[in-house]
Amino acid sequence: ANEFLYCIGCGAKIQTEDKQKRGYTPQSAYQKGIETGELYCQRCFKLRHYNQLEKVSTTEDEFLAILNTLSDKDALIVNVIDLFDISGSLIHGLNRFVGNNKLLMLGNKRDILPKALNDQRVSNWARGQLKQLGIHVDDFMLVSAEKRHYVDDVLAKIEAMRDGKDVYIIGVTNVGKSTLVNRILQSTGLDTNLITTSRFPGTTLDIIEIPFDDNSSLIDTPGIIHNDQMTSLLSLDELKQVMPQSELWPRTYQLNPQQTLFVGGLTQFDFVSGERMSVTAYFSQRLNIHRRKLAGADEFYLKHAGELLTPAIPQDTAKFVAKTIKIKQPTDVVISGLGWFNVSIASEVTIHVPEGISVYLRDPMI
Ligand code: GDP
Repeated sequence: ANEFLYCIGCGAKIQTEDKQKRGYTPQSAYQKGIETGELYCQRCFKLRHYNQLEKVSTTEDEFLAILNTLSDKDALIVNVIDLFDISGSLIHGLNRFVGNNKLLMLGNKRDILPKALNDQRVSNWARGQLKQLGIHVDDFMLVSAEKRHYVDDVLAKIEAMRDGKDVYIIGVTNVGKSTLVNRILQSTGLDTNLITTSRFPGTTLDIIEIPFDDNSSLIDTPGIIHNDQMTSLLSLDELKQVMPQSELWPRTYQLNPQQTLFVGGLTQFDFVSGERMSVTAYFSQRLNIHRRKLAGADEFYLKHAGELLTPAIPQDTAKFVAKTIKIKQPTDVVISGLGWFNVSIASEVTIHVPEGISVYLRDPMI
């Protein structure tokens, strides 16, 4: 008999000692789980019942160890990315890892992007972004795991593309990979009692395999937190405030030069010079945007960070970097994982973001 028990959610070996480590389950839940035969680690339990994301500490090394084996497989690779943060949710060196296998890219969280844009446009836009970033995909689809939109289409596509082979699902954290895998499980009726886990060679990771049939499986792999994602800097509660839960809320401001927009305490947008212009900010509805004059903005931040300007990174750890950008044509200025500003005309702007968060420019989505 197997003397260890494994979480039926993530496959981690169940343990009751260390809260910080994978597979932690409180003693009471452990007993109950044994009785009912449904044993989840605390992380999976919370995710399932409270929709609460807990970070798992998967190291870059382990993540790479898994990716490095993919090119030796004969499989379909499905990479889930966050449409809201394409560049921030991409795996560096993706095509090299995938090798000669087919790659299906899923742009998740379609529901966050404006409904006013039809799917075809969003899809074309996303494909264009991928191309610009040098990513080759065999196919691309939109999906909204949370809202269960297009999940069946995704399944049909996977079935058509996999050609009887295994399917590896990969992605960095927070792209909605777990949500999607759960939706897929519900939708296919794949038997979760048949989930197996295996220790990934050379790592401490258990990976979950869900059999399609006797010869092939769906393999869910753990993600890593990209350090340039906002998710690496904020607490869970704060993340809930900044991550859009539903369609982004565009807010348009008529700005004069030498005016500033604060987005919570996380981003400062200075309109340095140019003609009076309109700027549309696309962020979570729950993030306050505060407009004021640029002069004295630093003192204003120091005084109000964490109060009027919330959420903010704790002052003792907060370190901001400023980036000055000369804009020549309509452009989206994207703050990785947080949202973006659409700037309509030629101008000079300065963006202040926490150190480590990337800022990039792209053609306007809208
Ligand atoms: P993972 O780390 O990639 O496994 O991501 P999760 O499945 O835990 O999801 C991360 C966060 O994104 C959670 O707060 C989910 O509720 C949210 N999420 C997942 N899919 C969607 C989606 O389609 N739309 C929206 N708006 N949120 C989503």
